[in-house]
Amino acid sequence: MTPQISQPDPQAGAAVKAADRAHVFHSWSAQDLIDPLAVAGAEGSYFWDYEGNRYLDFTSGLVFTNIGYQHPKVVAAIQEQAARMTTFAPAFAVESRSEAARLIAERTPGDLDKIFFTNGGAEAVENAVRMARLHTGRAKVLSAYRSYHGATSAAINLTGDPRRWPSDTASAGVVHFWAPFLYRSPFHSSTEAEECARALQHLEDTIAFEGPQSIAAIILETIPGTAGIMIPPPGYLAGVREICDRYGIVFVLDEVMAGFGRTGTWFAADLFDVTPDLLTFAKGVNSGYVPLGGVAISAEIAETFAHRPYPGGLTYSGHPLACAAAVATIRAMEDEDIVGGAARLGAEVFGPGLAEIAERHPSVGEVRGVGAFWALELVRDPRTREPLVPYNAAGADAAPMAAFGAAAKKRGLWPFINMNRTHVVPPCNVSETEAKEGLAALDAALSVADEYVVE
Ligand code: PLP
Repeated sequence: MTPQISQPDPQAGAAVKAADRAHVFHSWSAQDLIDPLAVAGAEGSYFWDYEGNRYLDFTSGLVFTNIGYQHPKVVAAIQEQAARMTTFAPAFAVESRSEAARLIAERTPGDLDKIFFTNGGAEAVENAVRMARLHTGRAKVLSAYRSYHGATSAAINLTGDPRRWPSDTASAGVVHFWAPFLYRSPFHSSTEAEECARALQHLEDTIAFEGPQSIAAIILETIPGTAGIMIPPPGYLAGVREICDRYGIVFVLDEVMAGFGRTGTWFAADLFDVTPDLLTFAKGVNSGYVPLGGVAISAEIAETFAHRPYPGGLTYSGHPLACAAAVATIRAMEDEDIVGGAARLGAEVFGPGLAEIAERHPSVGEVRGVGAFWALELVRDPRTREPLVPYNAAGADAAPMAAFGAAAKKRGLWPFINMNRTHVVPPCNVSETEAKEGLAALDAALSVADEYVVE
């Protein structure tokens, strides 16, 4: 149901904006070059500003509102927990924390049955790396180019995109390698099977030349998210699992973005029938209503810390309010079959709808995805696959993507844009009608991108 938006109140919006511009220091931004929208409210898959403009959110925030905004059951659970026990220190057993851990462990693959809670994704990655290093007694961690793992120290050094560059210490013990991506194959492959075999061989070679005995962990996003939603070819993750087993390397899957229903399964790892040794999560665990993340830990790694203290902790590890939001979110997802709904949306609406759109628009080089997790690769030349804007373009160089984004917003669609891609990542429970409304706006906005395609 389309929400009733609040009455326009431009004066209130102006005050919110003025205080933001005076005092809020925003992530990833040149502070004087940004113009953040003042948001008045949000419900379900929509949000609106103080001017009376409503937007269908095809971004889920930063891909975290997997159950949409203001889900009444989760809002009520937060209110109830706040009234009962807003906070408590992490060393105690607390009902909402215990229950959240139980519900998460029941859903994570295999024997990932112990949960270390953090405040978000980056801290989850930091702790997974720490656990892997202590468990193996080794220092190096391998991660992929075209990846994002967070903005804290180890996490940003693991990240395989330009956001790492200004923070790269060149001494973090990280080695990057290429993961499979057939559309822009680093291995000049022409089939998924070839890409898979070559990517696994490349990983083997990297390990051989780095020294297997020096490698604590390999971390991969099960399906890389921000870097482009590249679904690994059949056999790749199973192949990485086998390599890790052979060399005693800890396999970490980062499901901060791909987890909790996004792919139409509880975890993306379920699609590939692979169980990592550590799995990081955040975002969808409680749709970001209260900050929460964590690491799901295998029996073997948990055993390492059974009689030896784990040297890591956080004041707010397993915060009762955040955990109550997780419990209510997971129950709502179960009751409303939101995970199954995302699978159906992918198969019946986004898959066919985006394929049709791609046929109409020469600027769409490739569509890929699953569930409520889709990327459109926009190109200047569909034959050469030259991206619509250069890699890491900014300012005037990024103008074609900015023009596409503005056209989408004019049609009431808030698009996710990263480099030359737009991602279709709405809440997993977006209705079919809303999804189709969004696809129609996307279709119209892509005509603007088409104008930049070379003849
Ligand atoms: N890992 C992945 C795969 C992510 O997508 C993100 C955030 O987008 C992170 C880690 C970092 O999470 P956070 O921003 O909560 O620290």
